[in-house]
Formats: sequence, C-alpha cells, structure tokens
Amino acid sequence: MDLYEHMGKDLFRAHDIPVPRGTVAETPEQAADATRELGGRSVVKVQVQVGGRGKGGGVVLVDSPERAAEEAARMLGSDFQGHAVTRVLCEELLPLKQEFYTSVLLDRSSGDYLFMMTAEGGMDIETLAVERPEALRRVHVDPMLGLRTYHVRDLTETLPIEAREPAGDILRKMFAMLREEDATLIEINPLVLLDDGRVVALDAKVTIDDNALYRRPATEALKEQFPIDPVEKRAKDAGLQYVKLDGAVGIIGNGAGLVMSTLDVVAQAGARAANFLDVGGGASADTMATSLEVILSDPAVKSVFINIFGGITRCDVVANGVLEALKRVQATVPLVVRLDGTNAKEGRQILSDAAHPQIFPAATMLEAAQRAADLANGGVAA
Ligand code: GDP
Ligand code: MN
Repeated sequence: MDLYEHMGKDLFRAHDIPVPRGTVAETPEQAADATRELGGRSVVKVQVQVGGRGKGGGVVLVDSPERAAEEAARMLGSDFQGHAVTRVLCEELLPLKQEFYTSVLLDRSSGDYLFMMTAEGGMDIETLAVERPEALRRVHVDPMLGLRTYHVRDLTETLPIEAREPAGDILRKMFAMLREEDATLIEINPLVLLDDGRVVALDAKVTIDDNALYRRPATEALKEQFPIDPVEKRAKDAGLQYVKLDGAVGIIGNGAGLVMSTLDVVAQAGARAANFLDVGGGASADTMATSLEVILSDPAVKSVFINIFGGITRCDVVANGVLEALKRVQATVPLVVRLDGTNAKEGRQILSDAAHPQIFPAATMLEAAQRAADLANGGVAA
C-alpha cells in the first residue's frame, strides 16, 4: 500500500524524522487558511499515489493565501495523471541550501535491507544510478546486524560535513520506522539541508507491506481515504480478480497462470493490456456478463481478448456464456475469443454458428493475441 505524502510525513513525525510544518486542505479556502497560518507563503502539493509531481505542475510555490486558493482550486478540480485529487498539502516554504536523496527498502533479491544515498538530489535517481553510479552510495544491511555506525558513515560520506550527522540520525530513524511500521520502502527525495544547518525530509514516499496490514489496523484504516475506482469495486463485489493496467487490450481469462501468459503474448504481439480479469473456475453466462461489463466500462479498452482453457469449465458453456452476455451488455469493441481444452470444438462451433459481428474466434493463443493487438492498435480485422 502506497501512502500519500502527508500520511508518510505523519509517520515521519511519529518517528522523530524532521519534516516541514504543513496542513492538509480539501478546499481552496482551507488552502488559503493554511497558507495564512504559515505566514502568507507556502508550497501547495497534490496528494496522489504517484510521483513526478514537481515536473507535472503538482507542486507549486505560492506567495499569498489567494494564490494558494487558486492553485488548490486548479488541483482539486482536475486529476493528476489519471489519479483523482481529493486533497492538497500546504507546507511552509523553507530556505534550501542543498538537496540530497535517500531511501531504504526491503531487498528481496539479496534478502536484506538496501540503503541508498546521494548528495546529488533533484536528479532522477534511476538516471544517476546508470550514468554516475559512483555518486550513489548503496549499502546492504543484514537484518540480524542492523544499521551500524560504519554503514551510516559510508552512506553520508558524500554529503557536506555539516549535514552528515543530522542525515545519519535520519537514516537510523528511517531504519527503525521501516521495521516498526512494516514498511517495504521509505524514500526521501529530496532530503534537504537548510540554511540554518537543519536536515529535513521535504518529500515522503512510503510503501507498507500489504501482508502486514492485519497487525497495523491504524495504517489499514488509511485505505478508506483513497478514492475508490468504481470499476475495481464492481469487480470485487462480483468476486472477480480485476487489475487495471495502462494499455488498450482488455483481457479475460480463467486461472492466474493463463492470465499471466496472456499478458505476455499480447506484449509479444506489440500491444499492452488495459486490464485483466481472472474469472477463475466459473465462466457462466452470469460471470461472463459481469466480466464484460467490468472490462468494457474501462474507456481505454479498444479490443477484448477472451482466453479460456476448458478443464472442469467446458468451452461450450463458455461460448454460450459469451453470447448470452452480449444480449445483456453491448459490445462497444471487438472481442477476440480463443477456446481450448474441454469441448473446445463444440464451443468454437457455437460461436461460428452465432456469427456475431463483434466476435472474432481464433484457433491459437498467439493468433488471438495478434488479432486483439491489431484491433487495439487501430488495425482492421480481416
Ligand atoms: P515529487 O516531484 O512528486 O517528488 O515532489 P517533491 O515533493 O519532491 O517536490 C518537487 C520539488 O519541489 C522538490 O525537489 C523541491 O525542489 C521543490 N520544493 C518542494 N518543497 C519546497 C520548499 O519548501 N521550498 C523550496 N524552495 N522548494 C520546494
Ligand atoms: Mn520527490
């Protein structure tokens, strides 16, 4: 679970990591009041579960309560890269001397924790890691050993001398927080040195391990503050596994393994999945209708790939289910259907007999993926 910046900063405060003073605002008036409280100037920041806000107009420095209200009105009235903005964070403007970067994460590949730190903040960290790897300090920390003084010294060594001790103190507190809050990632970008020598976390990206939420009721309760995707809710209510992605091919399959390989063949065919939905064992008319409703309600979907491998589920039942579903749900985009396994022949016969203008039967998974990709990319079905 990715927290909003202001939630991450609440945890920082609880763990004694310095952050700027700030207030969450849900209306332009609240943003103006908050800015007045902060002395008439502030930084207004959209609260969304994605980064890159600085470059995308999601972080704005304002010099009056009126300007804060204007910016808040603009942010709250729109979405940020497809993410609904329900609140902004207004923070005090701080005199920055230098920007750094630091993070700690659970490193699954090495089975330990990985700390990273660089004095070259402000730069995109992935770019820095590739272009100037020597500028990025990386330290693996054994969970049994914990964060030791020599780790901290190694990490902070490239920072200006005056920043090393306060930054080291923050590293120790980050480590404590990661473990005490069941976080898998804490990233501070930028961590800043102020004119007065203080080091402060100007941003907060915190990911909490979903599997640990059962023992973090206070953190789990934060979930209710995130906007609910209406499509996801509908799928969940129907007991279907639905995941939203950012391509144009909608995918319906039965079984997690088949759905995953369907994503791969669609990518191989030159398109990306818009979403996927696992109907699990049952592919009755009812399930199919709901699945199609869910998939088609995503405006990004330009074609649908229904990939069913019959086992206990019989393909003739699935074929009838698809046809039945299309009596209830209007197919606004072409549906490529690939049936294999139990009663596949009967299933395909049912579909070809129906000769539905929006159904394109395909014999193999690759052929189906190619057809779905072409249709999604604006090609004409032959
Ligand atoms: P992100 O782009 O989503 O990671 O948003 P950040 O919270 O990192 O903000 C982006 C940039 O805005 C930072 O790198 C800073 O340069 C700038 N910024 C944010 N808060 C302040 C502030 O209080 N004072 C100043 N001078 N700049 C700020
Ligand atoms: Mn940032």
